[in-house]
Amino acid sequence: MSSVSVPPPKCLQKPLVVPHRHMFGPGPSNVPPRILQAGANPVIGHMHPEIFEIMNDIKSGIQYMFQTQNKMTFAVSGTGHTAMECAIFNTVESGESVLTAVNGIWGERAAEMAERIGARVNTIVAAPGGFFTNEEIEQALSKHRPVVFFLAHGESSTGVLHPLDGIGQLCHKYNCLFLVDSVASVGGAPLCMDQLGIDILYTGSQKVLNAPPGTAPISFSERACQKIFNRRTKPVSFFLDLSWLANYWGCDGKPSRVYHHTGPVTAFYSLRESLAVLVEEGLENSWERHQKAAEYFHTGLESMGLKLFVKEKKARLPTVTTIVAPRGYDWKEITTYIMKTHNLEISGGLGPSVGLVLRVGLMGCNSSKANVDMVLAALKDALTHCHKSKV
Ligand code: PMP
Repeated sequence: MSSVSVPPPKCLQKPLVVPHRHMFGPGPSNVPPRILQAGANPVIGHMHPEIFEIMNDIKSGIQYMFQTQNKMTFAVSGTGHTAMECAIFNTVESGESVLTAVNGIWGERAAEMAERIGARVNTIVAAPGGFFTNEEIEQALSKHRPVVFFLAHGESSTGVLHPLDGIGQLCHKYNCLFLVDSVASVGGAPLCMDQLGIDILYTGSQKVLNAPPGTAPISFSERACQKIFNRRTKPVSFFLDLSWLANYWGCDGKPSRVYHHTGPVTAFYSLRESLAVLVEEGLENSWERHQKAAEYFHTGLESMGLKLFVKEKKARLPTVTTIVAPRGYDWKEITTYIMKTHNLEISGGLGPSVGLVLRVGLMGCNSSKANVDMVLAALKDALTHCHKSKV
């Protein structure tokens, strides 16, 4: 009698089919052929010298993208959430105070992560679409005396680009590390880690970088490393333990690297290529291109009679635009219609913005006038064809 009782699934006897799609939601964005092809290179060992060289190139690329001299700069194997947990699990010990700024879902998630490892978490809360003044932040820092303050630079659930000037200095005045989420913003909006006094900065590969999801650039300042390497207890996660990751990425100055986990080498190839694309264009040119496309898009939306969810112009995220959900329509019908008819992804809200907004992401290579025109035409078409209630 055969020991195999589960038959081979029929579905896997059919070829893989993946459609082409315009990825204009808040991520992932389209991956250009050049970056896809880089990922199709042969798999070699994750400890081979050629891979270490590729990892070193990635480090240099991230230092450029983040504008930092930090030695402790690398890419976590995993998505943006992995980098979030890497930042929080390494810097925070059980019982310590953490402050998160909540103006959308990302501050809520950071608070939950810190809570799960036993931190005492406090939040400052702004309405979706809003942001915080430096006075509000200083008040909370002086009240709660956190070891870490979390802020999302690009709040992709609400479309807010948070001003960052002066916050790093405030954190340092209160002996607190400044942790910034730039998953939705870096490369698409001005951000200089060292100048802003940011202690931990992370992003994801699948937004402005146009690489497949699965790697997450992160960087730690000297101050952050001081705290992390003087912990009383080990971080709860072995996989995300900075001392192991630092060695794997050659950031700890030790002569040899020790096996920690099998790095996703093909994802490293794609990430390296995406950083090479950014280097070729130049960071400032990329910021400017995103800003121009966003302004062109916002003008087009307003001329169609649609309203932008973020009232203050300078706080509008150039990469992810939030549009007030058009009155009388079911937002879900609009996004479904656009997907079906235009083969184009845009999305509804997330967390506190569900039901309030439509979200359109134009990131990296997707950020162009031609794509803005495509989205505007799709929206016009949807508003003509989707059901509008009379009330
Ligand atoms: N932070 C922000 C601002 C994001 O937009 C996202 C992804 N939508 C994440 C964190 C989490 O990234 P991931 O989905 O890659 O885990």
